[in-house]
Amino acid sequence: MAAPGGGGSCFVLGASGATGQALLKELCAQRPFSRVTVIGRRQMSLPEGCGVAVEQAVVDFERLGEHADAFRGHDVGFCCLGTTRSKAGADGFVRVDRDYVAQAAELARAGGCKHFVLQSSQGANERSNFLYLRVKGEVEKLVEAVGFDRCTILRPAVLLCARQEFRPAEWITQRVLGFGARFFPTAYSVPVETVARAMVACVVQPSGEKVEVLENKAIHQLGKAVPQLGT
Ligand code: NDP
Repeated sequence: MAAPGGGGSCFVLGASGATGQALLKELCAQRPFSRVTVIGRRQMSLPEGCGVAVEQAVVDFERLGEHADAFRGHDVGFCCLGTTRSKAGADGFVRVDRDYVAQAAELARAGGCKHFVLQSSQGANERSNFLYLRVKGEVEKLVEAVGFDRCTILRPAVLLCARQEFRPAEWITQRVLGFGARFFPTAYSVPVETVARAMVACVVQPSGEKVEVLENKAIHQLGKAVPQLGT
């Protein structure tokens, strides 16, 4: 378990994405770790002067085994990695959202990581007829099977975020659900900032469970409850 304002190290996969950016901000604000390593496929600009040593490892995800060093020595690993079928095709989606994530989890475990925090999706189910939900269910099972001391799986509903890239279907869904969130705030959507706060909160709170699954409502509750640790 990470100590509030304490030492220790974590890595973040997908830090350049909508949730990953929010998570990085939260890690800098809350400071549960003194060292954060961003592992991604390209250089990104990193926060400075937040009191946390933020480092970057640029890796080739098709040769992840050659980057075992990047995954060594972390207490906690956060994974917000993912693509879409429209961007990467069906095979590309499976490769990123299942295979890259499972390989990264294996490397993390081998490198000493004790707690893996995986951003999955509402409805994840390895027996689903829908590719997206099936792959999310499959990756959950693969990560669970790696055998971390602790594994936290978050299953957010539709993410509410201001995205630079335009995704038409997501844009419409966000507008509709953003409105619906006024009446059913925890049912169908969740802001990425709430997901990020829940991810940080779960590592600073003890748990008796080896594997915990946080559904959308639990993410809202945990994301709201987190105290300011780094102040
Ligand atoms: P984004 O699409 O904003 O970011 C995805 C991250 O994955 C980026 O850091 C991106 O890096 C990285 N990535 C994508 N493709 C590759 C690749 N081929 N190789 C290496 N890295 C790659 O993610 P979101 O924050 O929207 O979503 C995070 C997770 O949550 C995903 O797994 C998604 O499926 C899931 N989710 C999404 C929901 C939604 O409503 N959108 C709902 C529920 C769950 P780069 O910047 O280099 O592209």
